[in-house]
Amino acid sequence: MSNEKEIESRRRFLKVAAGTTVAAVVMGGLPRFARAADLPPVTEADPTAKALGYVEDAAKTTNPKRTAGADCSNCQFYSGGSTGRGPCQLFPGKSVNAKGWCISHTPKKA
Ligand code: SF4
Repeated sequence: MSNEKEIESRRRFLKVAAGTTVAAVVMGGLPRFARAADLPPVTEADPTAKALGYVEDAAKTTNPKRTAGADCSNCQFYSGGSTGRGPCQLFPGKSVNAKGWCISHTPKKA
């Protein structure tokens, strides 16, 4: 094989490898985003939720332990967005409401 053919062959290989990597990242990345949104929601009737005083709407709790403005979206155990639902480390495999709250609320570190 001549040197030019070898170089062309390597270029083709690198293009295919790069394309495959991009495809793998896209295909592997999308389901991860979908999974977070697909987590079943925690309900207030859930035994763990009851034990922790979890409420779907932080503003509606009468628990004196809640400080003003505290909700799941600013808790260090929450890893979702500021609206909608997201995962909480205390409820593995389930989602909590970004505007929810429980007695384990711990402010995120700045
Ligand atoms: S630990 Fe934090 S994120 Fe989880 S339910 Fe309680 S307040 Fe919400």
